[in-house]
Amino acid sequence: MSNYSKIDLHTHSNKSDGELSPYDLVEKASNNGIQMLALTDHDTVSGLYDAKKATVKKNIDFINGVELSTQWDNKTIHIVGLNIDAENILIIKICKKLKLLRKERAKKISQKLSKVGIKGAYEYTKKLAINGNITRFHFAKFLIEKKYAKNQADVFKNYLVKSKPGYVSTNWPNLSETINLINTIGGVAVIAHPLRYKITATKLRNLIDEFKQCGGEAIEVITSHNIPKEITMISNYAKKYNLAASIGSDFHNQSISWNKLGQLPPLPEGLIPVWKLWEKKY
Ligand code: AMP
Ligand code: MN
Ligand code: MN
Ligand code: MN
Repeated sequence: MSNYSKIDLHTHSNKSDGELSPYDLVEKASNNGIQMLALTDHDTVSGLYDAKKATVKKNIDFINGVELSTQWDNKTIHIVGLNIDAENILIIKICKKLKLLRKERAKKISQKLSKVGIKGAYEYTKKLAINGNITRFHFAKFLIEKKYAKNQADVFKNYLVKSKPGYVSTNWPNLSETINLINTIGGVAVIAHPLRYKITATKLRNLIDEFKQCGGEAIEVITSHNIPKEITMISNYAKKYNLAASIGSDFHNQSISWNKLGQLPPLPEGLIPVWKLWEKKY
């Protein structure tokens, strides 16, 4: 364990599409020796109170977080907000709006699936998403359970993505509004998993450039699935655009072998760790 970083600033609970309750997530983080943890559920802050409470008697510095879905250049880009004021009315309002958007999208996904003979998806996913934040992860579970797909990779290749059954495009709030919101509520905006967007290197540079111009401050340099070459690439972007660097596993589920809570390498030398930004603000 000793080579692992004791920091994980991108995790999910069952308030969005994670497996564990906020309480159990903290228990697991504590057992894994994590000292700084952020819960960053998709488009909801509803798990933060319980998670924070669970860390009280533990040696864990808990950071309020959220992973917001945004729209940029017709793509969905995930922006993590760290060290946010989770009680600010602006975040409560946007999460309410996003929950509705997700509900409407889920109904449309279900209708599209039923057109190819796959029935009952909405009812199933609605039950799974205990907090009402229905994600494609829940649809993936449904499709696997009902034997329409073998595994997650199969789902995200053959369903729910462009030109496949169950694909629905969503009008998420745009990138700049989202960054502004995070900044207004005292947080730090972070580009989540920058290499997962299936965009060219030029587009990625454009994204980072615009993110920076809009007031974004950090980028995830260490994520679960990146190889050393990719870590170097993102480190170089962080330096070039003067962005702070974050570490986050994107933990969802104990059964995903590559996605382990808090088991990530430390940040490469020469980068500004993202937590220095809020340490400065205190
Ligand atoms: P949504 O925000 O509802 O579009 O759902 C996105 C979620 O689906 C992600 O946070 C992952 O949990 C899951 N997901 C998306 N793409 C993949 C993939 N290729 N493999 C596994 N899970 C995925
Ligand atoms: Mn997810
Ligand atoms: Mn994401
Ligand atoms: Mn995530």
